[in-house]
Amino acid sequence: MDDRRPDPIAVLTSLPLQPAYAALGEPYVTPVPTTPLPTPQLLHVNPALAAELGIDNATLASNEFVDIMAGNRVWPGYAPLSSVYGGHQFGVWVPRLGDGRAHLIAEIATAAGQRRELQLKGSGPTPYSRFADGRAVLRSSIREYLCSEAMHALGIPTTRALALVGSPQPVRRETIETAAVVCRVAPSLVRFGHFEYFYYRNEHAQLAPLADHVINENFPEFAHAEHRHAAWLGEVIARTARLMAAWQAVGFCHGVMNTDNFSVLGLTLDYGPYGFIDAFDAHHICNHTDEGGRYAYDQQPTIGHWNCSRLLQATLPLLSDTPERAVELATEILDRYPAIYAQAMTRAWRGKLGLRESRAEDRELINRYLSILDRGHSDLTRSFRNLAQVRGNDAGPTLGVREEIADLERFDAWIDDYRARLRGEQSDDAERSARMNAVNPKYVLRNHLAQAAIEAAQGGDYSEIARLFTLLQKPFDEQPEYAVYAAEPPASARHIEVSCSS
Ligand code: AMP
Ligand code: MG
Repeated sequence: MDDRRPDPIAVLTSLPLQPAYAALGEPYVTPVPTTPLPTPQLLHVNPALAAELGIDNATLASNEFVDIMAGNRVWPGYAPLSSVYGGHQFGVWVPRLGDGRAHLIAEIATAAGQRRELQLKGSGPTPYSRFADGRAVLRSSIREYLCSEAMHALGIPTTRALALVGSPQPVRRETIETAAVVCRVAPSLVRFGHFEYFYYRNEHAQLAPLADHVINENFPEFAHAEHRHAAWLGEVIARTARLMAAWQAVGFCHGVMNTDNFSVLGLTLDYGPYGFIDAFDAHHICNHTDEGGRYAYDQQPTIGHWNCSRLLQATLPLLSDTPERAVELATEILDRYPAIYAQAMTRAWRGKLGLRESRAEDRELINRYLSILDRGHSDLTRSFRNLAQVRGNDAGPTLGVREEIADLERFDAWIDDYRARLRGEQSDDAERSARMNAVNPKYVLRNHLAQAAIEAAQGGDYSEIARLFTLLQKPFDEQPEYAVYAAEPPASARHIEVSCSS
């Protein structure tokens, strides 16, 4: 062996551990070993995120790193752990869920001093697995891996993904598939459901240590505030409202907005049967399992609000010792949500239309456009992207803009008003078009694109994962070599069904 080769374990050991979550101990977290995965293969690794974490390329390429990402070896100096939480699943309280197939494998500080937790998903059973196998299939792991980074590149708060490891190990779902592990990364993976768990068990004394951990590690600005819990909850509610607006603006549907999948940091968390809307339909339901459409596209902001109400219910004991006063404070915090959401949403739509100024009539202009797209099932991503071609002064709309539109009569009337609105703020075509292209993505992770990468990977070809990963790092850039990825999906794509099976 070449002695000058840097020792990967030494590199990982040199990253400062910050085991604050582990330090909470029982009943919050339990040490649980991961279950080794046979013949692990690193299918993709995220070099930019690795660099942020202080992991160099030689370490990424080492067998030791693959073993750690597979759960076959522990991170130096850290014992893997799982945490307990509950959650409202489709509106129904489920008292005990927890990390049923996830292990926290490290808590580190980056070179820039940011706290990061690394968690494996699919790394074997835990005390919270109930009757399931603790594994994740390749299909769902590819979807989580790619979408985490696609969302990050869109500027939407999300957990990140560091590595994707595959294995020939068979996993039984509707059919036999193979196992994979994703390593996700976030400053904290604490969910609304972590607080609900202790609240509904009547273990209210357990709430404050957990809240204080979250605040000290992630909201230091509130650590010394007189009413730190109220200040923090107000921030969670605001972040959640803004996150919902960010999802709506790109047509992202989460699919399983249960409170156990909601992050107290306002991050998009748990990529399961999510989907980006292709043909716009305000009632779009991306999760085949969600028959009633509880989590349909147009329900997401309301569900976000309801989830916040569940968090505030669970944290009532933190707000005041007097129940009436606690309810008063919680209500006051929760009631901020609609205005924060509306403001963020209007701002986002305005940005997508390229409007700089804020005018009273904007809301109507926005709603009319969305209803034209909805009635004609126009492709959401392409319709907004195309709008950047509109000129403030032309008599008729360019061909490209009309391409996605079914109801041209209503559209032509709308575009006259839109142009008048642009002229009203002396909008410069070139400047506006650049601004619009920076908020209206050209490329999103459409279901059929993910599906193509999955099918190729199931046949042993991982190149499509790499291609999509690269492409989606720059969703706002024209990338002529990838133009086909911005095309409308083929008719066959409509039959792709994603469900909770993962
Ligand atoms: P999800 O639907 O992925 O958000 O998961 C809901 C709950 O089920 C969480 O507690 C998961 O940890 C658990 N879970 C889902 N799939 C599995 C699995 N294959 N093995 C163990 N637990 C699982
Ligand atoms: Mg979940």
